[in-house]
Amino acid sequence: MNPFLNPVTGIPFLKNFLFDAQRLRKFSPEKINKYRDKALQRIVRYADTVPLYHIKYQDVNLHPNDIKRIKDVTKLPFISKKDIVEHFPNEILPKGYKKKNARIVSTAGSTGKQVSIFTDFSIFSGGIGASLRIYTQLNLNWRISRLANIGNFNPNMADSTAENLFYSKASFIYRKDTRLSLNAFLPVKDIISELDRFKPDVIYSYPATFFHLAFYKRKGYGKNINPKALLVSGSVLEPYTRSYIEEAFGCKLHNGYGSVESSSEAPIAFECQEGTWHINYDFFHVEAINEDHEILENGKRGHIVVTRLFGKATPIVRYTGMDDWVVLSDDEECSCGLHTPIFKNGVEGRKSDSVVLPDGRLFPAASFASLYSILNDLKTRKVKQFQIVQKRIDEIDILVVIDEDLRNVGPSVDLIFKKIQEIHQKKAGPNVQINVKEVTTIPSQKGKPAPLVISHVRPDKGYTVIEE
Ligand SMILES: [Zn+2]
Repeated sequence: MNPFLNPVTGIPFLKNFLFDAQRLRKFSPEKINKYRDKALQRIVRYADTVPLYHIKYQDVNLHPNDIKRIKDVTKLPFISKKDIVEHFPNEILPKGYKKKNARIVSTAGSTGKQVSIFTDFSIFSGGIGASLRIYTQLNLNWRISRLANIGNFNPNMADSTAENLFYSKASFIYRKDTRLSLNAFLPVKDIISELDRFKPDVIYSYPATFFHLAFYKRKGYGKNINPKALLVSGSVLEPYTRSYIEEAFGCKLHNGYGSVESSSEAPIAFECQEGTWHINYDFFHVEAINEDHEILENGKRGHIVVTRLFGKATPIVRYTGMDDWVVLSDDEECSCGLHTPIFKNGVEGRKSDSVVLPDGRLFPAASFASLYSILNDLKTRKVKQFQIVQKRIDEIDILVVIDEDLRNVGPSVDLIFKKIQEIHQKKAGPNVQINVKEVTTIPSQKGKPAPLVISHVRPDKGYTVIEE
């Protein structure tokens, strides 16, 4: 049965759809905190019916009734990616859970550690408010805006599961001709011509995909692609890429942050028009921990830990598997009108994509890449893609793709490369060899566009994350 037409699932959905996005504006902070307390109680009671969690809770002698307030979350054990992988498939759902209503969804697994969980309608329905909130925030009407999603539509990937479980059945809440799904791994010119025909108001994709599209847009392709906003997620965006894309499309790019595990559709955080990364804290509880799994105070950079406060299927409670670096900050006053905990400076990349230096310093991807200031000072946009590859602890390649049409315009490629070399050498120190190399293309990874940093060095314990 279509879950939208079933009163047991359809009516709660409608309520979530109509009210949840506004909750942060309508509720007082006290009311939101009470709401969070209740949501955590509910989710822990549910998690306790799932063997993976039940065993962990028993191990520490924890009863769900011990969890009454959101601050009690620290009593709960962490759940790692390994835990989920090892207990898949039968022990990450409650016993007797109707699997026919659930779908398996997997991470792209570009680093070889693929993780699969179950999702179902309750997760889409419970998280719909977080999905809509960014539209409200950007003054866009979700129902009538023309949305192009350029993602990964292979089987079991988040985008195809969402299509199958939700959007294909939800046509009564938005017009079907307002949605376009495209595979990000199609030839870029094909994507451009599809978009040109569709005329999207909003485009949703990865940084590397936008970078390619922006290149063609700059060359005059896609005259009818004039979106009001671009939404980006899936990997780290750094300032040069951002300017390159925003200039090409003449509109703002907004980051969304989420993961397959936390919910493919509902973002954990999003960037408002003021550039603040608001955490959807009525949908997720977020913590930051250090290498020893100790909770960090606000303002300190650490690894993200996520608890999803809604939905059923596989619960996500104190999950450490997302591996991104974040700095949390409390209830900032943002001029957009929202008051939420925030990610200071956004999400800076995965631990496995960090640059590690011989002197013990460790840079998250976004804080090592420094092309923006150079290319801005030189007033050039002739770099059409780049990537940082750490080959060894003391050797880093910076791969650069040059726009052929601009090769002989403005500052020389030699000068640009010299400046790129200098600034990264200064960051890395004298004991690291920095090679700036021109390449013709930078390939995608398995199921994922090219990331900003690829590191072949695993950081040992004891490395200090640099605070800039
Ligand atoms: Zn804001």
